[in-house]
Amino acid sequence: MARIQAIRGMNDLLPGQTPAWRYLENTAAEVFSRYGYDEIRTPVLEQTELFKRSIGEVTDIVEKEMYTFEDRNGDSLTLRPEGTAGVVRAGEQHGLLFNQVQRLWYRGPMFRHERPQKGRYRQFHQIGAECFGMAGPDIDAEVILLTARLWKHLGLTEHVRLELNSLGSNEARARYRDALVSYLRQYESDLDEDSRRRLNTNPLRILDTKDPETRKILTDAPVLTDYLDEASRAHFEGLCQALDACGVRYVVNPALVRGLDYYCLTVFEWVTDALGAQGTVCAGGRYDGLVAQLGGKPTPAVGFAMGVERLILMLESLGLLPEDINPAPDAAVIAVGQGTQTYALTVAEDLRTALPAARIQQICGGGSFKSQMKKADKSGARWVLIIGENEAAAGQVTVKPLRAEGEQQTLEKNAVNAYLARCLGIEAEKS
Ligand code: ATP
Ligand code: MG
Repeated sequence: MARIQAIRGMNDLLPGQTPAWRYLENTAAEVFSRYGYDEIRTPVLEQTELFKRSIGEVTDIVEKEMYTFEDRNGDSLTLRPEGTAGVVRAGEQHGLLFNQVQRLWYRGPMFRHERPQKGRYRQFHQIGAECFGMAGPDIDAEVILLTARLWKHLGLTEHVRLELNSLGSNEARARYRDALVSYLRQYESDLDEDSRRRLNTNPLRILDTKDPETRKILTDAPVLTDYLDEASRAHFEGLCQALDACGVRYVVNPALVRGLDYYCLTVFEWVTDALGAQGTVCAGGRYDGLVAQLGGKPTPAVGFAMGVERLILMLESLGLLPEDINPAPDAAVIAVGQGTQTYALTVAEDLRTALPAARIQQICGGGSFKSQMKKADKSGARWVLIIGENEAAAGQVTVKPLRAEGEQQTLEKNAVNAYLARCLGIEAEKS
């Protein structure tokens, strides 16, 4: 029978990979906590309508990337392609948003039907944040500073650059849209097919195109920055000043528009050259209109999401993963001979109780002394605790170094904890 394989673009994370993921997730969790952000977890499935209404009907995601299906009741459901919509839905549903300030972060899988390639998958993972109830540029600066601090913790600072833009107010964007459309109309027949269609539906997205011919036409197109209203300009300047004062470097990229409909004012991306074409590792911006668009009271909001797979690829390829993220056991315990296994279990359990910082691996399943020693060695443990019939009968334990200095010793059971604590240089719990 043919073996069943995982779905294309949906990856298993094997034991060799999860330590790097845990390292990244824990580092992010710690940074969020230092800035006073609270974690939120929402379902991976939502009503399809939620994404259509928030992300926008005429976006890559909604047009061609969503995993949408009817459930058994005939409801149209979609595996979340991003995190913001669900967080806003949950915030509204549970009364977290109106007249309140919230700083929320999330992590988890997202689903988009894209062509799988390096840095682009169909199930991928994001770590993101959403802040509600703060309208000024200071919170925009804070979310960027938070991400900058995360890069610093991870050693990525020199490998990423920050690109910034302002999309202005809705009115400014509408005026710009008209100007852009009348400019592009002159070259309509030379545009790529997607862009020609977008001319009528979502012209700003044309700025995002990767088609070389269209890109050439865009070089002389009107620039969004020239259409910004006073308030949007002031907001953007406030953000730039804050970043300058905190020593975060950035480049203003007037072509940065982001692929989702709900953004206004600030948009930003952290980009790297270390990953080839999939160079954006973190992206975000302000979305003051979204909460109202989904039926809530008008609520200013700003957020971002980073691509975990892309960050892991960077950490791996740049050799930035710390060596100690997947430590071997400190000690392995082997039980050789009749009636030794139960006694060995009590030795290991006592050790775990007495030395909470120690990693103790039991070699289970029995076998000869030689084969168990082999397994103990293979575990990478620095010490092995040997329990044979003599030790079990006498209430003793033999301690032998595998990758450490020292002599083999046979000790009374109640002396083992303190001895191993000394060997490992860790504190024993006072009992
Ligand atoms: P891209 O331009 O690369 O398609 P995007 O604009 O669609 O990105 P966002 O919706 O802003 O991406 O998502 C935020 C981040 O999530 C991206 O910057 C990227 O790091 C990551 N990401 C997005 N789509 C994928 C994917 N299919 N596979 C892996 N990571 C992804
Ligand atoms: Mg995309």
